[in-house]
Parts: sequence; structure tokens; C-alpha cells
Amino acid sequence: MISIAIDGPAGAGKSTMAKKLAAKLQYIYVDTGALYRSIGYYVIQKGKDPGLETDVESCLPEIQIELQFIDNTQHVFLNGEDVSDRIRTAEMSMAASKVSAFPAVRKFLFDIQRSFAKKYNIVMDGRDIGTVVLPNAKLKIFLTASAEDRAKRRYDEMIEKGQDVTYEAVLEDLKQRDYNDTHREISPLKPAEDSVLVDTTGLTLDEGVMKILEVVESVIH
Ligand code: C5P
Repeated sequence: MISIAIDGPAGAGKSTMAKKLAAKLQYIYVDTGALYRSIGYYVIQKGKDPGLETDVESCLPEIQIELQFIDNTQHVFLNGEDVSDRIRTAEMSMAASKVSAFPAVRKFLFDIQRSFAKKYNIVMDGRDIGTVVLPNAKLKIFLTASAEDRAKRRYDEMIEKGQDVTYEAVLEDLKQRDYNDTHREISPLKPAEDSVLVDTTGLTLDEGVMKILEVVESVIH
């Protein structure tokens, strides 16, 4: 089985790029952020604090997460319920960022992520895929862009979905998550030593995809 890992900070375009790449190669696209978001969602639903390790750990035994691929799109089932849409809010982004710093949470999700790589050819995106989850991935891409570019893309997406946000709030949120993700003790966000760095600052989405495809074609074929 062949795995491609795409890591990088929030808003770098990982999911868009990974989806396009998976479609082109006919691989399965696995979005690991959705797993962390689902745990954050559960903790909040229970009225507990996603930033408090004891609160989060006490929820884990009650959580069952399953990924299903329906029409080539990933759906996350949390205790049998499809939460794929509900985990896409700014509140859940921040909750995911908080719970993801706890070792018990990362351990809990490790096997789910690994099991897909054993069964399928995949493009998997996240923060620690190339460094921790799939160290033997055939290709590791570290995708990045300036915080301002990433915030602008994320802001445009949210406005398009009808969400009520300001650019400043989105930028602030991204910077906070960047800080959390790069400073946590366990599996911090950083490029794997053998990753290819792709910086999409100043590029349109299509130009970014072209850049990634060039890298992929030179490695996979
Ligand atoms: O990728 P997405 O923005 O959906 O991820 C939400 C949060 O989940 C990130 O800010 C990060 O803290 C966490 N995450 C992680 N490791 C991954 C994927 C996501 O820590 N592999």
C-alpha cells in the first residue's frame, strides 16, 4: 500500500490539495483533523472543558469514532452519529487544537489512522503524519503559506458558507492554533526531515495544486 502524508499549519490548503491529489491518483483521502475535532465536539457536548486534561481523559472511554467513505467523501461517525458537518465551526477548531495536546488523545487516535494506511492507498493530511503516524510514507509534503494568506483563504471559505466572522478574528484564531500546534510537547507540528516543503504564499489554489502535482509526479511515477 502507498501512503502520501501532507502536513502543515491550519489553512495552508492541505485538505483541498489532498482531496485533488487523492482523486487524481485514485487513492482514499483521510482527513485526520476531523478525528481531533470529533473528540473536541464530544467533550463540549458533555459540558466539559476541552482544555482540561482530566475532563478530556474521562470522556475517552465513552467515545467510539469510525470513518466511512461515502461517494469518496470522508464521514466521521461519533458513537454512531454522523458529525461531519457539526465539527466544522471555529469553536470546534479551537477545541480540537486543545484536546490534541493531550498524549491520551493522540494515543487513542493513532491506531485508527494507522489502520487505514494498512488497508488502502491513501493521502492523509494532518500535523504529525510524516513525523509520527506514517514515518514510512512514500512521499511527505509539508505545505505552508504566510499566516495572512492562510487567514484570507479560511475567511473567504467561511464567508462563502454563510458564517459570521471577521478577517481579524480568523487570523487571530489561526495564530493561536499555530502556536498550540508547534509548541505542544507531544508530536508538535514540524516538517519531517525527509519532507518536501511546498510554500503556497501568493499562489492561487489552482497554482498550489499544480505545484504539488509536480512534486508528486516526480516521486510517485
Ligand atoms: O486540520 P484541522 O484544522 O481540521 O485540525 C484541527 C486541529 O486538530 C489542529 O489545530 C490540530 O491541533 C489538531 N490536529 C493534530 N494532529 C493531526 C491533525 C489535527 O494535532 N494529525
